[in-house]
Amino acid sequence: MGKVFFELRYYLIILIIFIFAFLSLVFFPNFSFVSNSADYEILEVTREKIEVKNSDFALGNDINNSIQIFEIKKNDTLLNLLKQSGLKDSFIKALIKTKGSEKLARIKIGDSLEISKKISGEPKEIFLTSNGFEGVLAKFENNIFTIKRFSRPLEKLERFASVIIENSLYESALNEGLSDSLIMDLVYIFGWDIDFIFDIRPGDKFDVLYEDFYWNGIQVKNSDIKAARFIRGNKVFTAIRYYYADGTKEYFSTRGKNVKKAFLRTPVEFSYISSKYNLNRRHPVLNKIRAHTGVDYAAPKGTPIISTSSGTIAFIGNKGGYGRLIEIKHTKDYSTRYAHLFKYKKGLKIGDKVDQGEIIGYVGKSGLATGYHLHYEFRVNGMHTDPLTVKLPDAEPIIDSEKDKFKRVAIKMINRIDNLYLQIYAINQ
Ligand SMILES: [Zn+2]
Repeated sequence: MGKVFFELRYYLIILIIFIFAFLSLVFFPNFSFVSNSADYEILEVTREKIEVKNSDFALGNDINNSIQIFEIKKNDTLLNLLKQSGLKDSFIKALIKTKGSEKLARIKIGDSLEISKKISGEPKEIFLTSNGFEGVLAKFENNIFTIKRFSRPLEKLERFASVIIENSLYESALNEGLSDSLIMDLVYIFGWDIDFIFDIRPGDKFDVLYEDFYWNGIQVKNSDIKAARFIRGNKVFTAIRYYYADGTKEYFSTRGKNVKKAFLRTPVEFSYISSKYNLNRRHPVLNKIRAHTGVDYAAPKGTPIISTSSGTIAFIGNKGGYGRLIEIKHTKDYSTRYAHLFKYKKGLKIGDKVDQGEIIGYVGKSGLATGYHLHYEFRVNGMHTDPLTVKLPDAEPIIDSEKDKFKRVAIKMINRIDNLYLQIYAINQ
């Protein structure tokens, strides 16, 4: 050790480093030795506070009252919890007699019961909630209780993230702090056009504008995507959120095309394709050439089968080699068939309406089948079609009367995303 540190040349090297650092700060004030983490930053865009009158605010922070929070456990009853809280019997009796108290008494394990009292011991508010912001509220004012359903006014935060995919969409998104539920929503929105297992390449990216909801600084309920843009190679997919007047939510492309298809890709989850559509296949049981006019999905016995689109049951019963068969008519042109079932959904009969994704039966091997699988057929105008390659029709586009309004929303959202994208990638540089 020792002497080398006192040699003049070491002082010189240190001096040169300092001068370099000083000059770089003067000439490149934004230069940084670490990679620019702003690339992936989630921007907190706006903080939209909802103005509320204090009297509407369930269990608001107020130094004049105390709040007790009980998490409902096994064998708890409303009465016991009220007693535990120290509330006087006369108040408890009055509460039980109040119209609607049965709603408050319907407590479930995991719910929370929040009780606020004035310093005098007089009750103020009693709130039963399972998700922290919606529930039943009993208010005590002018010596009487009133009980009604209540939603806490939430603080809405708009956020934006721009993510470049390295290996998987899920990993990259998680690394940038996006929640599981938000990633799942993105996959759902774009999953109709993009296969997230096979189609994604490193360097593909997405921008997402979304809302988070808070009450008292605590995040409640899942994020809601306002708009998102997925860039895969040189293809751009855009989805804009639109709420119809009845509260239903849909995502449309900028042209008003629904991001969803009228049909789901597969009628059984957790399965693999054991035999494709093939007009020259040798049948495994009959051992002769017989067209295979559907796709086989191998899955364990009893796996649920879902209807790939909404429609009406056109046939349900035994039919030769098909075994137990269900046929669903979706539109004038489209129908699907589900064969070799183990059993049907209880009570299902001809003429019943089914929704997209609804369970209609369970995987079996009835009829001419060697193992447990679903034989799925897709027919267009009564003609067999390969379910894997058929171009699926889109779900309903934006309805005509809402087109103008949607256009304004879409333009606003696209501008917003562009603007925020520039904030991250240009202005911060
Ligand atoms: Zn088959």
